[in-house]
Order: sequence, then C-alpha cells, then structure tokens
Amino acid sequence: MLSLPSYIAGKAVTSDSWIEVTNPWNNEKVGRVASINRDALETAIQAHLASATPLTRYERSRILNKTRDLLDARREELAQLITAEAGLCLRETRYEVGRACDVFAFAAMEALHDDGQTFSCDISPTGKARKIFTLREPLSLIAAITPFNHPLNQVAHKLAPAIAAGAPLILKPSEKTPLTAVRLTELLYEAGLPGHMLSCIHGDLDEITRPLIRDERVSLVTFTGSAKVGKEIAHTAGYKKTCLELGGHSPLIVLEDADLDLAAKLACEGSFRNSGQRCTAVRRILVQESVVEEFTRRFHALAKSYVCGDPTDEATMVGTVIDEAAAISLEKAVQDAVNRGASLLLGGKRHGALLEPTILADVSRESTLGTCECFGPIAPIFRVRDLDDAIAYTNATPYGLSSGVVTTNLESAIKAVKGIKAGTVNVNEIPGYRLELSPFGGVKDSGLGIKEGVIEAIKFMTTVKTFSLPW
Ligand code: NAD
Repeated sequence: MLSLPSYIAGKAVTSDSWIEVTNPWNNEKVGRVASINRDALETAIQAHLASATPLTRYERSRILNKTRDLLDARREELAQLITAEAGLCLRETRYEVGRACDVFAFAAMEALHDDGQTFSCDISPTGKARKIFTLREPLSLIAAITPFNHPLNQVAHKLAPAIAAGAPLILKPSEKTPLTAVRLTELLYEAGLPGHMLSCIHGDLDEITRPLIRDERVSLVTFTGSAKVGKEIAHTAGYKKTCLELGGHSPLIVLEDADLDLAAKLACEGSFRNSGQRCTAVRRILVQESVVEEFTRRFHALAKSYVCGDPTDEATMVGTVIDEAAAISLEKAVQDAVNRGASLLLGGKRHGALLEPTILADVSRESTLGTCECFGPIAPIFRVRDLDDAIAYTNATPYGLSSGVVTTNLESAIKAVKGIKAGTVNVNEIPGYRLELSPFGGVKDSGLGIKEGVIEAIKFMTTVKTFSLPW
C-alpha cells in the first residue's frame, strides 16, 4: 500500500492523520496520503510568497517539456495508479496520461511565447509621441482545487499553465484520488521545478481548504468540480479572482438528416467513456421523432460491445464509477426514469461501484436524468420534434457547458451553434471533444465564462501591466 506525504514547497511532510484511498472495484486499500494542519498551511503560504529568483521563460519551458517526457516514460505506471484509485479502465487511464502529456507540451510551447502588445499613441488629434506596451506579470499565489474524475489531467490543467505563467501554486486535489496528484507533484520536482513553485496538500475542509480559499494572500482560486461546491467557493473566496469550471448536462442532438451510424458511435463514446464521468459527457440524447426508432436500434447494437467489468482487464471498456454510493444514486435515477414511463433497453444493473452501461428510451424531461447531472454511464433518449424543440430543451436546464449536434445540413449546424447557450457546440462530434490548448469552459451553472485550456488559463494566472515611453 502506498503511503504518500503532503508536499509543502518541495518538502515532504507527514503526520499521524491520514486519508485512505480505496479501490472502487475490489475495495482493497490502494494507499493513503498525509493530512496537514493549519500551521503547515501557513508555512506553505509563506514559503510561496517569500521572494525568489523568477524562472526564465526558457527554464519554465524546459521543466514543462521534461515533465511531459517523464509522464510519457511512466505512462503505464500512472495509468495503473489512476485505475486503482478511480476504478476507470486502462483504456481510459492510458488515454488520460496521453492528454496530460499534451497539456505539458502545449504549456512548454506557450511559456516561450510573449503575447505583449504595443500601441502607438499618436493615433488621435490629442495623441502624443509615445508608445504604450503591455506585459504579463504572474499572480503571486494560486490555490487550485481539483475533482476526482480525471485524477491526472484535471491537475495538469492547473499546474502546467501556472508554471508557464511563473505563478506559485498550492494544490488541494480530490481526497478520493489524491495519489496520482502526489505522483505528478514528485515528477515536477524531479523535472527541476523549484519547491517554492508548488505545494500539494491534503486535509480537512475546515482545517485547510476553506482557510486557503478565504486567505487574502491568495490571488486566484481555480476550481474544477460540482456546481454546488463552486457556488460555495464563490462566496468563501471574497475579493479575489476565481475560475470555476463546474458541472454539465450536455445534449447530443440527432437530427433526421444525420448519419445514424455516426450518431450511434458518438452516443456510445459520449455517454460511456470514462464511465460517463466527464463534465462534458452526453447526459441527454435528443433525437428527432422521425429517426428515433432507427437511431435507437443502431445505438443499442453498438452499445452492447461496451464491455464493463474489471478495470484492469484489457477487454474492459467501462470500469466502475468513483464509489458504491455514487453507483447507488445513479441506480435511483434510472429507477426514477422507469417509474415515469421510460423503457430500460440496456444495462441498469449495479454490482458494488460498477453500473452497467445503461440505455433508456422515451425518458421524461421532468425525470432526474432530464433535469440533473447524473455522473455515470447512463444514456437517456428523449424525443424532440425538431431542432427548435431540441435547442429549447438544451437551454432549459441550469447548465451550459457543452453540446453536440449530428446533422448533414449546414444551416441546421449553424442554427445550433448560434442558438445553444453553452461554452461549446461540436458539430458531428461528441460534446467532450476539445484540444488541451484551445479555450474551454461553460456558462450559467457550468461556469462564469472564464475559460481554461492552456492559453486562456495562462492569461488568467497573470495580470496585464502597461508601461509607456516617449517615442
Ligand atoms: P466536488 O465539487 O464534490 O469536489 C471537487 C473538489 O472540491 C474536491 O477536491 C473536494 O475535496 C473539494 N471540495 C468539496 N467540498 C468543498 C467545499 N465545500 N469547499 C471547497 N472545496 C470543496 O466534485 P467531484 O465530485 O470531485 O467532481 C465531479 C464534478 O466535477 C462534476 O460535477 C463534474 O461535472 C465536475 N467537473 C467539471 C469540469 C469542468 O471543466 N467544467 C471538469 C471535470 C469535472
């Protein structure tokens, strides 16, 4: 069993208080991490704020590239660790390590890029012979709080941009999957990141997490997780920057002119990848009435090939959800849909933390599945009259993270892009499709419209200073 410390500005710290991590598939103990107390948190904050020689762009880029290489070299070991602590199957966790490699490679590239602007001041009648220049300065201290569903990549999306920006960061990863976050922290130190640039801490909500969020010396709280917790953080944080990347309820809209084989494939991938535990997973499949029977037939046929079971088995395509309690609440959401008249076409059975990939037809829009984010491998099919009806129902929930539209009609595609109130509209793709570099993030209860993705995150982790010179 792994026994891992908290890291305070590069120093390993243990205590007699531990957070234990259990494998959701077999309930074996995977490891534990050391909790810290308020005094240790204070030590971390002070260490990060103490003046230190800033890293050059070259040094930041080199550390990020080295980290990418180390991740790549330890791909299998990390994939196995994520599988053990999260129950995600190896197909997913190997993929996740690849995504994290991209994040570090892109951040290494961006660290070299100076996006300063120049303005000539003699461009109006009252102008002067001067120039204004911009430069970006790193924030003095960032607090990052991450969720369980991508134990490596969600952490990478906080750490890599902060390093590229030159901003020190205190990470508080999910207590459900902290082991991978500690391993990534160690790997960064090994790649040459100075201790004063990163801490990785674990502990009680009231002892360390809330005090960290509230602390006035922290200039940004960057959080990825549920809408409920995100809204609480918005209150706790007070007068400081916040980046809140929250839940989703993304639709896949299938129109009558769609390529139905493609639609079936996207429905499977969007609903079942990562055990349905992606913020951008397909939560509602909205199918135009005229093709609903044929689409359902093809989707059902393909979905049967999504084998679920032991996450370490090479043949498994869907592992467990994060724990048995989560699986039980998903089971209840399935039952609620059935009670309201839905037909259960596939799956629906639960074994501990494993919920079989589940398809339901004729689901009521008022059901739990139709109104709430149910974080698991459930694919509810809803009938829609036309694109207008699909857009109206898409926009009727509090979330606005992402969406997918399957159509061969350009006009319909453009209408969907314009009409859907969400951070992303992907045409003939799953809602979850993204590049780790490009802007990503939601609106409404999915976020405040402040984007992540390496480029945007770096911008948010800096402030712009202007200076002017006679010219
Ligand atoms: P969660 O909100 O329960 O927890 C996230 C983190 O917040 C954890 O580290 C947890 O320890 C911490 N936390 C819990 N309560 C807190 C509080 N009161 N104050 C401060 N911190 C607190 O989320 P989760 O269950 O770990 O993750 C799943 C959620 O994350 C889903 O809603 C999913 O959609 C969302 N998510 C969003 C994105 C995105 O980019 N928009 C990406 C991944 C996951």
